[in-house]
Amino acid sequence: MTTGADQSVPPDGARRLLVRDLAQVVTPAGTHAPLRGAALRDVDVIEDAFVLVRDGAFEAVGRMGDLPRLEGDVEEVDGHGLSAIPGLVDCHTHPAFAGDRANEFALRAGGATYEELLAAGGGILSTTRATRAAGAAELREIVARHRDAMLTHGTTTFEGKSGYGLDHDTELAQLEAVRAAGGVPTWLGAHAVPPEQPDADTYIDWAIEHVLPEAAEIAVAADVFVERGTFDVEQARRYLIACRAAGLALRIHGDQLSEMGAVPLAVELGARSIDHLEATGPEGVAELAASNVVAVMLPVAALYLARPMPRGRALVDAGAAIALATDFNPGSAFCESLPVVWTLACTQLGLAPEEALGASTVNAAHVLGLDDRGRIAVGLRADLVLIDAPDWRHVAYHFAGDVVRSVVREGRVAHLRA
Ligand SMILES: [Zn+2]
Repeated sequence: MTTGADQSVPPDGARRLLVRDLAQVVTPAGTHAPLRGAALRDVDVIEDAFVLVRDGAFEAVGRMGDLPRLEGDVEEVDGHGLSAIPGLVDCHTHPAFAGDRANEFALRAGGATYEELLAAGGGILSTTRATRAAGAAELREIVARHRDAMLTHGTTTFEGKSGYGLDHDTELAQLEAVRAAGGVPTWLGAHAVPPEQPDADTYIDWAIEHVLPEAAEIAVAADVFVERGTFDVEQARRYLIACRAAGLALRIHGDQLSEMGAVPLAVELGARSIDHLEATGPEGVAELAASNVVAVMLPVAALYLARPMPRGRALVDAGAAIALATDFNPGSAFCESLPVVWTLACTQLGLAPEEALGASTVNAAHVLGLDDRGRIAVGLRADLVLIDAPDWRHVAYHFAGDVVRSVVREGRVAHLRA
């Protein structure tokens, strides 16, 4: 990394922020995305460092000894004893829900079967009932609250899916709520078949005709849950092709419980990502490695449901592009913390902290189509997490620890731990 500052910068009214005396500044190396293979482990580390921000973008980064003389108003943040990493990007969340599933969690913990949970009113459709009953204003308030909770764990960019409305008004209200909170909206119109629809084919036809035209005005991507009992590959293909024709990028929830052909479908359609992959075998790993589809892993969901973990090490070693995300949702991953995901990645998926860093910054931003963030580099959007340790690897090492001291989002201090 090189410093991008002139030796004397005239005051010109620009808003500047200097984080000084940091023990470490750590960022994925290089300039391209997504990172694969050995490149995913390649990070730049500067010790005794500063980061300078100007009008929401990184202006300079370097060693304290190279800090230029700064004139004019500069807000300063003391980085003594802290390390800095890029703002985290959570590329897979379901934040637009009302109610909760605490009762279902307790029943499952007590050994209830999935059928018993459904009989007790659990599952996605219980969240659908509560979410339909909430108004648009309440959904906006809910998503903003979850965004703020994510921020305290270092997330400066989040994707948020619909999929709990499964009707015209509530699906659009969910997408609007994500957009209003500054998130990246994904239309998960094919999450489940709502009770008023007779079958999956009828529902997909209805959603394409009645929801897609307006959803495509708000969302940047479409998503489908390919699994037994929800949507099969033929239904997913039909839905995704219609969404692609409407200008949306494509995502797939696939291989969570069983291999249904979601990986070949993602490759065939040029999807941005396939997410989950707990059930993906060696053939799927090889197919993803030979493709441009990003393999998004969600280890909290696997942990929550006591499922096998996805083959993280095998995917990276085969050359696949990977990303990590929380899958934040009320049923199977009620967790906003990417640092917790890092710990699971390093202990359960066989990934190094460097790989977790790249997978939840530059690679996750790539999944969302955002090439202006994910690294601490001159000119990029100034999203920064200050870690409360002189060694950045505490993010993964301190399991569920309170590691985030403060967060800079687009050049402003957006969170400061009390
Ligand atoms: Zn999900």
